[in-house]
Amino acid sequence: MDYKPRRDKLRNRIAQEGLDAFLVVNVENSDQANLRYLTGFTGSAGALIVGKEGDVFATDSRYTERAAREVPGLPVEKLPARWLDWLADRLESLSLKRVGIGTQRTSLWLYRKLEKKLKGMELVPLDGWVEALRRVKDPEEVERIATAARLTDEGLRWLLGRLKPGMTEREAALELEVWYRKHGADHIAFDLIVAFGEGSSMPHYLPGERELREGDLILLDIGAKVDGYCADLTRVVALGRPAPEARAIYELVLQANRAGLEAVQAGISGQEADQAARKVIQEAGHGEHFGHGLGHGVGLEVHEGPRLSPTSEDTLEAGMVVTVEPGVYLPGKFGVRIEDLVVVRPDGCEILSSFPKEELLSL
Ligand code: ZN
Ligand code: ZN
Repeated sequence: MDYKPRRDKLRNRIAQEGLDAFLVVNVENSDQANLRYLTGFTGSAGALIVGKEGDVFATDSRYTERAAREVPGLPVEKLPARWLDWLADRLESLSLKRVGIGTQRTSLWLYRKLEKKLKGMELVPLDGWVEALRRVKDPEEVERIATAARLTDEGLRWLLGRLKPGMTEREAALELEVWYRKHGADHIAFDLIVAFGEGSSMPHYLPGERELREGDLILLDIGAKVDGYCADLTRVVALGRPAPEARAIYELVLQANRAGLEAVQAGISGQEADQAARKVIQEAGHGEHFGHGLGHGVGLEVHEGPRLSPTSEDTLEAGMVVTVEPGVYLPGKFGVRIEDLVVVRPDGCEILSSFPKEELLSL
């Protein structure tokens, strides 16, 4: 895998905007995804200078050997204990005057330290430059996300065969996490959500000691991470016979999910996609029970650009990977969300999630 074309894109923008360099500093994973995207490096600490003339990559002694394997085509320089001084000297040695740095993942602490150390240089805060590059995936990234999505689906199939009354949410979430890691995931994409019964009405629920009971709705929002790339899937099933109201809400959310999928294609705005699904829920009188946006981009991070929501300013482009996840949540009762992961194509979308959703499955 050659990461230089990605750095070259950044370099072009640097030149266009009259800068001399772009600086990425990863401290304790603060900017891990951006640094990985630009170099392939997976460690928790490192720095990259993308300059007009060339690139400098450095990491500390814990990672130099790993970096030599992971970062092709760039010499690995060693960050000493006084790494901020080293970085300031290195930038000075390259005679860089205007240096950009991303605002999203740079802490105020680091920004202030750098400002103080960089003598005769201007540090320019920039919004979302690397994040913007990451939005449209190349085919290799799509393949990794598709692999993560397949594993996510398979794990769900496995877990549903094991759920029985008396099992707690926490046990179910943990068993699934172990299954993913045993079957090729580097990690889980986020803390897996398993909610039984009334817990499902909280969109970002924390699994607890609640035991599974007959008649419960079971909401599973889950994802494996493979080769650094995340999947994100939500399905709702029932143990035994669900209440008629639960069936009706499931049907409604499924219609909204389909309307959202129908709308997603290159050129549509994040607001329009959201509205296509939201309209279905609003017309059924449940608008106030759908509090979050329709979806988000997925890649090295499980939540990244673009956004599909009523306030989104994004436009979908071919090659973006996004979720479509409408939900209806009835506090104290239950909630239903149906989430698929899709690749935006010029004339529609390709659905990566294959787990069935056509009807409320009962175990
Ligand atoms: Zn999700
Ligand atoms: Zn999601």
